Amino acid sequence: MAKQVQNFNAEIKQLLDIVIHSLYSHKEIFLRELLSNASDAIDKLKFNSLTHPSLLPDSWQPQIRLEPNSETKTLKIIDNGIGMTQEEVTEFIGTIARSGAKAFMQMNAEMKTKPELIGQFGVGFYSAFMVADRVTLHTQKAGSNDGTVWESHGDGTYTLDNVPRPEGTGTTITLHMKAFKEEDEIQNFTDKWVLKSLVKKYSDFIAHPIKMQGEKEDETLNSQKAIWLKSPSEVSKEEYKEFYQHLTQDWNEPLRTVHYKAEGTMEFNALLYVPGKKPWNYNMRDMEYGLSLYIKRVFIMADCKDLLPPYLRFVKGLVDSSDLSLNVSRELLQQDRQVTQIRKNVTNKALATLKDLLTKERSAYEDFWTEFGATLKEGIPSDAANKEKLQDLLLFHSTSSDKMTTLDEYVARMKENQKDIYYITGDSLSQVSNSPYLEKLKEKGFEVLLLVDPVDEWVVDAMNEFKGKKLQSIMREGLDLDTAEEKQKKEEEKKQAEVTLKPVLDSMKKTLENNVKDVVLSERLTNTPACLVASSSDPSAHMQKLMSQMGKEYAGQSIKRIMEINPNHPVFEKMLKASPDQQTKWAEILYAQALLTEGSNLPDPVKFSQQIAELMVQAADSTKH
Ligand code: ADP
Repeated sequence: MAKQVQNFNAEIKQLLDIVIHSLYSHKEIFLRELLSNASDAIDKLKFNSLTHPSLLPDSWQPQIRLEPNSETKTLKIIDNGIGMTQEEVTEFIGTIARSGAKAFMQMNAEMKTKPELIGQFGVGFYSAFMVADRVTLHTQKAGSNDGTVWESHGDGTYTLDNVPRPEGTGTTITLHMKAFKEEDEIQNFTDKWVLKSLVKKYSDFIAHPIKMQGEKEDETLNSQKAIWLKSPSEVSKEEYKEFYQHLTQDWNEPLRTVHYKAEGTMEFNALLYVPGKKPWNYNMRDMEYGLSLYIKRVFIMADCKDLLPPYLRFVKGLVDSSDLSLNVSRELLQQDRQVTQIRKNVTNKALATLKDLLTKERSAYEDFWTEFGATLKEGIPSDAANKEKLQDLLLFHSTSSDKMTTLDEYVARMKENQKDIYYITGDSLSQVSNSPYLEKLKEKGFEVLLLVDPVDEWVVDAMNEFKGKKLQSIMREGLDLDTAEEKQKKEEEKKQAEVTLKPVLDSMKKTLENNVKDVVLSERLTNTPACLVASSSDPSAHMQKLMSQMGKEYAGQSIKRIMEINPNHPVFEKMLKASPDQQTKWAEILYAQALLTEGSNLPDPVKFSQQIAELMVQAADSTKH
């Protein structure tokens, strides 16, 4: 096939434009990015060869080489990793939009000052154009005899050609260096001393040897140190931090570092990090997570999901096992008993670490919670075995103060006559904290947890109770706030009201029979005329809303709730005297108001506003005379 010219897609063009014209500082990080790609390529080849041994030539040893040439002003970065097919080159390096490129552009203002973040976005390759005005990539995929040459000046187009790679499988990247200028932070990247110090600074942890021709013989530039195999007392804080950065490309400090060795029935070393901040793609569906897995120091894979439950997906790090068989495949790992045990152990350790953080550094824990609390909460419905431990780690907003509270703290503040732990669910703090459902509880001085994360509905559902105390939604039927004594006192009043208001209750039930299950007298309202509550066995209105947002519905239609009316509100006394026609209208308005009160949408907002306007006119007419 002849050499072909292709266009970069619009996003990559923009990205290149930023890389070439706007990233001024830290241009040296291009080397880290390309070395890390080379190292990943070697890891991939090693992993694939576990199941396809023929991919590795007999004497194959992993190797990355740097070949600087100050005469031709070029730097070659050569690896004998997995290589790419021509399709992969176009996909990974050329045209297909990658989510990272978009995200990178959106962060552009901050990026301008921090080009070292580029690797996080999965677009590290392009950093080569910070220092080179022409980049040539020659690659050949393991198991294939077809090589591909890709070349670009970073100007919007690239060329592709079919040329076998003389060295066989692997990738060679040739950078034709821009003229170096101190003030542009372009150092002489063909100088061996410069390269040596950059490898030490950024790529020392790379697990495969990075070699360069020294004065007499080849030199290995990186120490490849496996700090996780050392004892924690031998590793400095700085080393832990550097390794975290190497692993995650996150330039912030990790919040917590946990380094330990498990012994006994199974042996492994683990180095875990709790990050301080979410990565940019945290909430994306395709976010990779998991720990890196090593077996006896041999890298097996990054992002091994089987080593962490999904609700701990923010945890980064690695596990190096001495018991697992090197012959594992991704599919087999899932069923491996030892892997399950490692996951259990790592989960316990992570939960204990968070508990420790909560007890000893509350404010750091609150920061952690803001970033990852919603994720951790998913564990309550999904990991029954650790439910108890997870409950202790929960933080909630509540009506007692602006500070978040644990359940234990809530229980300690419970009033003597308070039976249950009360909560309300909704879309936002401002909505729930003004909710009329709180009226009676406020009056009694009972604290209410304000649950506004979508996952909370599932959390409280799964929890049901905490240390013997029931979790009770204040939006459900059966809210039992009064003591026996108070009840007795009110019983008489209630009976009386039921008799007096019977005509209103009956007429409302009839008007609203398609909307609600029942209309009853309320004990939870003081100022508001009416509200809707879910039967104790039905999903709440908020849950139904969440499900329908997710495209799921309960048996195809929403479940009717019970309407509660406030017997002390003057509107019902008036309603007793109103005409049947008025009663019908008022019932409809009250129902619409109750929907608004619980945070639901009105089925017919136009009708509602017409009805209100009509009431205003009537009110004005009746005050005229
Ligand atoms: P990232 O490495 O973060 O995915 P890059 O832009 O650096 O983003 O690289 C894009 C992709 O190109 C890589 O994911 C990998 O599939 C491929 N790639 C880059 N360099 C190499 C290499 N030296 N050998 C094999 N594949 C490579």
